[in-house]
Amino acid sequence: MDEQGLERDVYDVTVIGGGPVGLFAAFYAGMRGLKTKIIDSLPELGGQLIAVYPEKYIYDVAGFPKILAKDYVAGAVEQALSTGAVACLEEAVIGLERLEPEGLIRLTTDKREHWTRTVIICAGIGSFEPKRLEAPGVREFEGRGVHYLVRSLEVFRGKDVVIIGGGDSAVDWALSVYPLARQVTLIHRSKFRAHERSVQQLHESPVRLYYPFYEVKEVRGNHHLEEVYFHQTRTGEEHVVPAQEMIVAIGFAADLGPMKAWGLTIERNSIVVDPQTMATGVPGVFAAGDVVTYPSKFKLIATGVAEAIIAVNHAVVYIDPSARLDAGHSTNIMERREKAASAS
Ligand SMILES: Cc1cc2nc3c(=O)[nH]c(=O)nc-3n(C[C@H](O)[C@H](O)[C@H](O)COP(=O)(O)OP(=O)(O)OC[C@H]3O[C@@H](n4cnc5c(N)ncnc54)[C@H](O)[C@@H]3O)c2cc1C
Repeated sequence: MDEQGLERDVYDVTVIGGGPVGLFAAFYAGMRGLKTKIIDSLPELGGQLIAVYPEKYIYDVAGFPKILAKDYVAGAVEQALSTGAVACLEEAVIGLERLEPEGLIRLTTDKREHWTRTVIICAGIGSFEPKRLEAPGVREFEGRGVHYLVRSLEVFRGKDVVIIGGGDSAVDWALSVYPLARQVTLIHRSKFRAHERSVQQLHESPVRLYYPFYEVKEVRGNHHLEEVYFHQTRTGEEHVVPAQEMIVAIGFAADLGPMKAWGLTIERNSIVVDPQTMATGVPGVFAAGDVVTYPSKFKLIATGVAEAIIAVNHAVVYIDPSARLDAGHSTNIMERREKAASAS
């Protein structure tokens, strides 16, 4: 019962974050027979793949030589909900409290309270905002040619496009946009930090590259963006290119926000976990995916989903210490579930 005397609807596992890792955690928890809920602050499931790069190909998830992020998410959502998980969208979790003596966890969102025995935090980089490019005109043309997030590549068809940045996002956008754009120019102030193979593909592509030491000075236009002015910061040499569209991909400012007050150990904006169990320092609270840190952590979908399996299996044993940590292969688990369902 809660303070108002109402029956609490207690879940076994509540997954905070419906990105690729949270979705897989929800599937696996459901498969292991846990009553599971996912909460995400965004209106759609999929995390960074839907919010940041729905039209980009992913090449390093097992079983798919090449898959569009939005297609991967479609499969991941179907899989997540197939074992009974429910999803609560547009709810940001702001509070986590473990109540004694029963050890239940109360999660508070901006809409209501949720009760759960365990939590798996799969909150990625927390609430994230693209870093803004500070140069005259850029703010004015945001939404009128200047993009920080890209929902559809079609906007760039037949256009002159300028891309700012030298990390994976900038390089991946350049490679995705050039086949349909009229011309793509990439401006970057330093060396490329992107994956070696992508940088090599970029050098072999018709994308015009200005790096290192090139920075945007100003953007101009009338109702819509028309030109980008930039310069070589060492020599002062000036350039201007026509541009109807500009993608700024200079990173994200991430903030774990309210999670910092949940009693977790935080290092460099990530939650410290024991990689053998994915347990945080708070009993019953596990974490997986981009949000965690431990020695040799890789921030990738493939490693995140593996962490989700570890977190779920340890959550199972946390809830019922007599349960098996390793339940075996999915076929066996599903067959046992079906048998139990038909017997009841
Ligand atoms: C441009 C780009 C290209 C990439 N390419 C690849 C690639 O090719 N291969 C690869 O493996 N990885 C790639 N990545 C990395 C990959 O996207 C991440 O590793 C992956 O998204 C991590 O998944 P996640 O579920 O941990 O977090 P996320 O995808 O970040 O999802 C976290 C979710 O948690 C929600 N959330 C956060 N805080 C709260 C809160 N308090 N309450 C409720 N909800 C909350 C967010 O809204 C979000 O939906 C790329 C990343 C970028 C930016």
